[in-house]
Amino acid sequence: MERTCGNGTLRAADAGRKVTLIGWTAKRRNLGSLVFIDLRDRSGIVQVTCDENTAEQVKDVRNEYILQVTGTVQMRKDANPKMATGEIEVLAENVKIINRAETVPINISDSTDTNEDTRLKYRYLDLRRPVLQNNMILRHKVCMIARNVLDGEGFVEVETPILARSTPEGARDYLVPSRIYNGKFWALPQSPQIYKQLLMIAGMEKYFQIARCFRDEDLRADRQPEFTQIDIEMSFADEDTIFGVVENLMKEIFRGIRGYKLEDHFLRIPYEECMARFGTDKPDLRFGNEIEDITDLFADTEFQVFRAAADQGGEIGALKFSNTADKYSRKGLDKLQDFVKHGFKCKALAYLKMDKGVLSGSVAKPLSEEEKAAVIERLSMQDNDLVLLIADKKSIVRQALGALRVRIAHEQNLIPAGENYRFLWVTDFPMFEYSEEENRWVASHHPFTAPKEEDIDKLFSDPGNVSSRAYDLVLNGYELLSGSIRIHDQDLQEKVFEAIGLTMEQAKERFGFFLEAFRYGTPPHGGVGIGLERLIMVLAGTENIRDVVAFPTTNSSLDLMSDAPNFVDQQQLDVLGIEIADKDKQ
Ligand code: ASP
Repeated sequence: MERTCGNGTLRAADAGRKVTLIGWTAKRRNLGSLVFIDLRDRSGIVQVTCDENTAEQVKDVRNEYILQVTGTVQMRKDANPKMATGEIEVLAENVKIINRAETVPINISDSTDTNEDTRLKYRYLDLRRPVLQNNMILRHKVCMIARNVLDGEGFVEVETPILARSTPEGARDYLVPSRIYNGKFWALPQSPQIYKQLLMIAGMEKYFQIARCFRDEDLRADRQPEFTQIDIEMSFADEDTIFGVVENLMKEIFRGIRGYKLEDHFLRIPYEECMARFGTDKPDLRFGNEIEDITDLFADTEFQVFRAAADQGGEIGALKFSNTADKYSRKGLDKLQDFVKHGFKCKALAYLKMDKGVLSGSVAKPLSEEEKAAVIERLSMQDNDLVLLIADKKSIVRQALGALRVRIAHEQNLIPAGENYRFLWVTDFPMFEYSEEENRWVASHHPFTAPKEEDIDKLFSDPGNVSSRAYDLVLNGYELLSGSIRIHDQDLQEKVFEAIGLTMEQAKERFGFFLEAFRYGTPPHGGVGIGLERLIMVLAGTENIRDVVAFPTTNSSLDLMSDAPNFVDQQQLDVLGIEIADKDKQ
């Protein structure tokens, strides 16, 4: 069809140019002798003006009609600074209606007031909103950059199966029944983990894939049952090599998309230190206010609460906020107290405020003058500083103060506005965590992650203190990727299975093929899986994962547009040999 350019591309420099445009009618205003139409296509919106010569042609035009307009670009009398094309308009000479539309059930504009469920039901209309189209284009561009950068470094994109054998990433699998092998199931991959490791054994050396992953997890606001990873694996690589590949990739993405120059190397902090300083393994580094462990200041305290925490191997942690004491009244502090008590099972939140060199606050009385002086000195307290203190089990202190740190940063606007991307590698994650539910140690990352060399002898004697070669990349408080250096030695892999309570029989039953592959010359290797949606969310500046997925499900894992999941014909079930049990009756 004839079309000279995108509607959103026209500018003042085009004045006088004859154009043919195509687009959807975003808005139509009838001023008697003049009719104005906002014509929208993927590139943007332009105003089309129909005077007495063409008004007749558009008299029946309604929103979302598709028009083909031939006309001349001219300067507007009153420019609209809110529109990219706001300086010009197209004076129509001929308008052809290409297709009609019924009244649409949603408000198609960036500032739509239609509720999200209705928009999800009519997602194909919702996707006409420029903001969502731009997110899809952004996503496409990021994938293009990733493909080009990785190709340039010798990585090869290999597709791995979607119908696969279950791979253990800690979540529940989506299962697909096999028709031919009655009673057997495929699993949709939680990630291509095993396949990418097999590709290393196969000698591919450098693999990547923009891979769809599936996890049947409990419902959570920021999750989708299927999501995409930029999945990377590399042979003969250690942490430095892999971090270098990812840093370069991020640099190219942020430069290409945002024109933003990232630092050459991202900061690295080991997990233990990260937890001690920020109370979380995904800290937001755009602001300071780190947790201070001040337990040692109270070695001989007579204040029972602090004494008990110190004696029982707990911690007394403090967070200081400069020039903030006057911002938190008693009521405000009570709210913070409720927050940590309910959210983190914390016994209490104490506070100190400094005024004219003197401390007041909930623990000002029970602490001795020396102890108070020591707190002032350690935390370099000044007038109007607020210090929040928690004395409890170490893990509770860290988690609660870590969450308070973020909450207060938001309440007090401590996070500088604008583009500010603070990346951080968190390294040396614990190898195992104890699952109360399963009553055994489980792999924190996945069971193919290598333990740190120096901790291998603790695999059975002290599993809780084995560090691994797993790492995360964190950006502004979000986990952007995880990965690890893998085990490449068959004996060690067997030991790790044993440490997480898998007998050799069970391990062979589940990953026999994988263990066997290890015997034929496995190169040292490692990799990462970058959460594509998370990355796009940061780049697009949205907190809603559905804004960066073309056809997302709701928070409760429903596709409102096609009404999936749904029942299938009895015949389909019969072929599969499946009978539906009534779960309620079980
Ligand atoms: N498969 C891992 C994940 O999905 C990433 C990796 O270790 O490469 O988190």
